[in-house]
Amino acid sequence: MRYSIYYMITPRCILNCGYCFRDTSPESIDSELPVDEVLKVITHLYTNFNVRKLTISGGEPTVLNGKTNTAFLKLINHLRKYKFSNPNDNLRIELLSNAVNLTPDITKQLVGVVDRITITLDTLNEDTLKMIGRNTGPYSNYVKRFRERFLDFSSKGFDLKLHSVITPVNYNDIIPLVNYIVSCDEFHVSKWKFYQYMTYGMPEKDLVYSISDELFHKKAMEIKDAFKDYNIELSFKDNKLMETTMFNLIHSGRIEYYTKENGIRTKHLSNIITEYKDWDDLASKCDIDVNMIKKYHSLGDE
Ligand code: SF4
Repeated sequence: MRYSIYYMITPRCILNCGYCFRDTSPESIDSELPVDEVLKVITHLYTNFNVRKLTISGGEPTVLNGKTNTAFLKLINHLRKYKFSNPNDNLRIELLSNAVNLTPDITKQLVGVVDRITITLDTLNEDTLKMIGRNTGPYSNYVKRFRERFLDFSSKGFDLKLHSVITPVNYNDIIPLVNYIVSCDEFHVSKWKFYQYMTYGMPEKDLVYSISDELFHKKAMEIKDAFKDYNIELSFKDNKLMETTMFNLIHSGRIEYYTKENGIRTKHLSNIITEYKDWDDLASKCDIDVNMIKKYHSLGDE
């Protein structure tokens, strides 16, 4: 069985989105693995956990270890070792980035390693993006940059994916954004994932971004309808699905997972992943539901 894993390699970022859930406390930043340890983790995942799809996310991956692009490109070079024509052996790489640092000279170095690049875009309205925090300080003009980047990624053959977080702040901007993508003839988006804003126990954020299940699903229906003649893979992650599938490798090299008992969700952290021999060892030493892993994180047999 082959597996996919979501690796949030750093809590650092250069933007400051209001709904972001990354932990930027000094302890969290201190626990970020140096790039050489990140490489060991990836080798271990490939060799012992049979991981064949790796999503690299953050924070912002390009600022791994606080060094713009340097550690990140070292990681990319390491990943090149796992690119094979045989799908059983090949490690598919997906990169989630805000794309600020993904200038054309950098993306040139990702060719042949990264298969898909994902950018989060919640609206085409720069003022709303400013409110959300995506137009932080010197990094304004998010939409303009998004267009330039997607054109560049597309010309280099990367598969393109979008993420959007649906909140009351951008609720009415989603359909105009969808219509823009539908009518865009400069690039083609192959997949789009829409998230319901999820609470991480920060009441001041919840007050602004919390959205009911009903409103989220209503918008999901409108989105599906707008895309009925467009060839795209749509997915919608509501809070219930997020809670069920929450299982990520975080920047300290530990697995973050949740258990729920009597309606109470509890967060857990494993030891560093290199301490576990394989999936069975991880599952038996931590309170992790193997069936959930198989259902949501396996790629099946080839
Ligand atoms: S770009 Fe992503 S990681 Fe950075 S602050 Fe925004 S949501 Fe968080």
